[in-house]
Amino acid sequence: MVHPLFRHAEFYTTVNHLQDLPQTTSVEIAFVGRSNAGKSSAINTLVGRGRFAFTSKTPGRTQHINFFRLTDEYFMVDLPGYGYAQVPQAIRQHWSHLLSTYLQTRQMLYGMILIMDIRHPLTKLDLQTLEWFAQTGKSVHILLTKADKLSRSKAIAVLKEVKQFLAVNYPRCTVQIFSSSTAEGVEEASELLQSWFDKGRTEPR
Ligand code: GDP
Repeated sequence: MVHPLFRHAEFYTTVNHLQDLPQTTSVEIAFVGRSNAGKSSAINTLVGRGRFAFTSKTPGRTQHINFFRLTDEYFMVDLPGYGYAQVPQAIRQHWSHLLSTYLQTRQMLYGMILIMDIRHPLTKLDLQTLEWFAQTGKSVHILLTKADKLSRSKAIAVLKEVKQFLAVNYPRCTVQIFSSSTAEGVEEASELLQSWFDKGRTEPR
């Protein structure tokens, strides 16, 4: 069952330059992750539509920031997946600048959903992302995706390890198991997004 939050979800705009960021007063939640971690699939699963956020393997298509409108007040923001080894250095620099500037300066951004493949959690790039986003003081929630690829006991063991790491290093950051194949964790993630949007709308910033 798709959460009511996503019932009227629609594509809003694509941005490739900081000066083109939409001038909205809506609350935004960003989705970030290493390419291939399962970010597009997670968004599609939450929204309940197979090709809502494109799952494209072409680097040229993924270096943009995609805005999705849920309501006039709530937007989901799909950020370029980091970690394409084969793209030219200049392009990589362009999008890491776009990504980091957006994440560190966007006033209406409430928090970040960080997508990690449960089989490869906390990569060097994930840790870098956590480190500079933590400085903003905004919320972070991790989805350990592709949980269906591990046995139940192994998935729970990874969850526990990541929780222990966070407790020591980023005590306000939360984490859950997710699978786009089995829809495990969809309800938990949807509830979290709803609560963040509600807080983003009512809390002073
Ligand atoms: P993105 O680059 O982070 O947007 O990753 P995608 O969503 O395109 O997913 C990368 C690959 O992993 C695709 O082949 C997906 O079908 C697969 N995938 C994504 N999520 C899951 C999941 O929860 N379970 C399984 N088994 N495969 C997944």
